[in-house]
Amino acid sequence: MTSVQLLYLIIGIVVADYIFDQSLDFLNLKSSKSELPQKLTGLYKPEQYAKSQNYLKTQSRFSFITTAFSLSLSLLVLIFGGFGWLENSISTYISDPIVLSLAFFGSLFILSDILNLPFQLYSTFVIEEKFGFNKTSAKTFVMDKLKGYLIGIIIGGLLGYSLLWLIFELQQQFWWTALIVIAAFSLFMNVFYTSLLLPLFNKLRPLEEGSLKEQIKAYAKKVDFPLDSIFVIDGSKRSSKANAFFSGMGKKKKIVLYDTLIENHTEEELVAVLAHEVGHFKKKHIVLSMIISFGQMALMLYLLSWLIFNEELSAALGAQALSVPINLIAFGLLYTPISKLTGILMNMLSRKNEYEADAYASLTYEASPLKSALKKLSVDNLSNLTPHPTYVFVNYSHPTLLQRLEAMDKLAI
Ligand SMILES: [Zn+2]
Repeated sequence: MTSVQLLYLIIGIVVADYIFDQSLDFLNLKSSKSELPQKLTGLYKPEQYAKSQNYLKTQSRFSFITTAFSLSLSLLVLIFGGFGWLENSISTYISDPIVLSLAFFGSLFILSDILNLPFQLYSTFVIEEKFGFNKTSAKTFVMDKLKGYLIGIIIGGLLGYSLLWLIFELQQQFWWTALIVIAAFSLFMNVFYTSLLLPLFNKLRPLEEGSLKEQIKAYAKKVDFPLDSIFVIDGSKRSSKANAFFSGMGKKKKIVLYDTLIENHTEEELVAVLAHEVGHFKKKHIVLSMIISFGQMALMLYLLSWLIFNEELSAALGAQALSVPINLIAFGLLYTPISKLTGILMNMLSRKNEYEADAYASLTYEASPLKSALKKLSVDNLSNLTPHPTYVFVNYSHPTLLQRLEAMDKLAI
């Protein structure tokens, strides 16, 4: 293909992706019903339900504006060869190809972050604030940004430097060594996320002695779950939305509970939520999804190795000669349809796993506190109770509340 044809192809993909996402958003918004599904009547008070629908509308409208903005920006940059221009400008100051590539990605990141800043501010301090979710202070927002930049420079710099070095040294053969580096890095992050990265953003404290801790321990013992420690994290510092997860590999598992979750749930509900998480572990969902992402990464890097040294591709984005960083961007855009497809497949698998984890919690603990916890979480987060099935199929990593409740009811029969 010539560089002009490649540019048209890339623009076609960007526009098609935009239309695809927007149509789904539109379908989803239209399927929002003013009546609650029968099984969920009584879950919301009428004014609460109206609020949840208003939340969906506000978010959809906001995302319509942000995506239209980023589409226009992408098209302008593509049509006027903005990527080539940026790389060319930096190359007058930096000649080392690896440092040049890092500077190129760094500048792109900073530029896009500055352009996105008004939207981030509006989302956090206007929308989330209006619906009562926002707990982020201006200070926390600024500190998060600074820490994010610092971590981006350290981790992005180290990982980026290693990967670019492999590309320039090994040429087309880089892909399998890069795969090993990325796999080792994600394993490292998985092990040390809770102990290294999370404390930079949140305060973690051990769960105090008491009946909740006793109940969690008793459950872990009953199902033979290798529980190491239980932490409470100050999620309330940023948002009233709640969560729970566990991390760590092998024999040492750390459970992390959001303070917002503890606040609004009974001890039985909290144990049931953890039983669901334990279900993911016991059913090997976590290992399986790591293996699958490894396979996806292998496919992506292999395909990348065929295009990374393609001169036409660089020219398509406005570079004057072969450019590795520009080809990385071009590849990312060309890869969109494949990542969309793998994303849908991953969501299908994830929804199946959610049912399995719910079933595990129902069998090893109890269904009713899990059901009431899921209902509470839906109400507190103003979740959309009637999303469009196609939207769910493409975008939902979890089944809808109604689907999960119905699946658990079937178990009981
Ligand atoms: Zn789950």
